[in-house]
Amino acid sequence: MTLPLRTARFASLGDTYYSAVRVQPLRAARWAAFSPGTAALLGLDMAQLASDEALHLCNGVVASSVTPLAMVYSGHQFGSYNPRLGDGRAMLLGEIGHAGRVHEIQLKGAGMTPYSRQGDGRAVLRSSIREFLCSEAMHGLGIPTTRALALIASEEPVYREQVETGAMVLRVSPSHIRFGSFEYFFYTRQHDALQQLADFVIEHHYPEALRHENRYAAFLQAVVTRTARLMAHWQAAGFAHGVMNTDNMSILGETFDYGPFGFLDDYNPQFICNHSDYNGRYAYDQQPSIGLWNCNALAHALSPLVPVETLREILHSYQPTIEQQYLQLMRAKLGLHTAQAADNALIGQLLGLLQQSAVDYTIFFRRLCDFVADAPNPGLRDLFVDREGFDRWSNQYSIRLAAEQSRDGERSTRMKQANPKYILRNYLAQQAIDKAQREQDFSEVNNLLRVLQDPFAEHPEQEHYAAFPPDWGKRLEISCSS
Ligand code: AMP
Ligand code: MG
Repeated sequence: MTLPLRTARFASLGDTYYSAVRVQPLRAARWAAFSPGTAALLGLDMAQLASDEALHLCNGVVASSVTPLAMVYSGHQFGSYNPRLGDGRAMLLGEIGHAGRVHEIQLKGAGMTPYSRQGDGRAVLRSSIREFLCSEAMHGLGIPTTRALALIASEEPVYREQVETGAMVLRVSPSHIRFGSFEYFFYTRQHDALQQLADFVIEHHYPEALRHENRYAAFLQAVVTRTARLMAHWQAAGFAHGVMNTDNMSILGETFDYGPFGFLDDYNPQFICNHSDYNGRYAYDQQPSIGLWNCNALAHALSPLVPVETLREILHSYQPTIEQQYLQLMRAKLGLHTAQAADNALIGQLLGLLQQSAVDYTIFFRRLCDFVADAPNPGLRDLFVDREGFDRWSNQYSIRLAAEQSRDGERSTRMKQANPKYILRNYLAQQAIDKAQREQDFSEVNNLLRVLQDPFAEHPEQEHYAAFPPDWGKRLEISCSS
């Protein structure tokens, strides 16, 4: 049995939008890990997915009944426009429909395409493991994201700073179209093609926009709203993406293209996860404004289709949307079920204290789930250098909880659904990578996957994944090289 792939609807747009390509097989390719959750989303049973036939199909050893394709796009990278990007190492294999939903399957690292430029079309094992795990971890956290179906390892040598081995992630999303796809047709002055692309995305992904007088305006509004909400999710979860170029911004508002991402360990708003981001353009606390910057770039690309006053109005909705969504998420993290005017200040004071004492963001909030009102709460208090500062905040918080008749037990249960116990810390990913690279042993990848798919639950046998990171683990340097 093989995968029930059919030609992606995207192919119907015609070859202005992509190039037909062929997968270049990886030497000694083999299945290394699967995500059961993504398999279920696609209606695939494990035997079918884990088969040699499916492997040979993904590895280009047997030709697929559908032609793989590489999408063309451009985009702004670190603020500068790059006119020609495109899938340099990703290939759209086709799509799979199940239960009324259609998902594209993309291979990342499948070899050279007409858009590879100086690149080799490959992805190394370490970055593939990171993308595989983080996609599923984000989904587990309830954050919109592309999914990962499986990981393929190989003995193909790939040259980076050192010789590594090539790998592939099977990436899954309803659409892999990016902000940069629109920018490409705008900047090359192919405005008819731009409109057709917008029509395609509206028809398949934003059909509700058809009801509006200007469907393109309604479409942009929906993308801006989703992007603002996504940024709020990242901030609340303590996630930094690392390379928020417009070619890495999904038109569906999903977390897209995992590279040198990182979760906050100690709360530090200036956290830069991408070692190559010298100016901190994509630092954690810059993400909300970069999200808007990127929406601006998309709006500019849609300017042939939407009057400029309307574009401006739509962009103005970004700030209130992100603020509202962030507040909602932070209230849930604090276990508050009503909204009060002073909540913003309460959150701001807390973040100030966390920063001042370099408190671990995830561990703090998980411990906060067991907060007892009007009590000393030593497990929390001891996390702070400024303990009196914490006491003052904790008094305020107790008063705030009393104002909504909050009960400790009930609140705790609710908060444990908003504050994960497990996140993909860099060092955890690194340990799984080291084991896979040295021993071809993917057990650690699979153990992490199991926990991260369900990060709010207790996993007593995997308690060590919820521990404070070791000092070396906080200083890992992750670069763009992948
Ligand atoms: P990224 O920073 O991964 O989003 O990639 C930016 C651009 O570089 C995209 O057009 C990628 O397809 C391309 N690219 C990245 N790595 C490679 C590679 N190893 N071979 C070919 N193209 C690549
Ligand atoms: Mg990219």
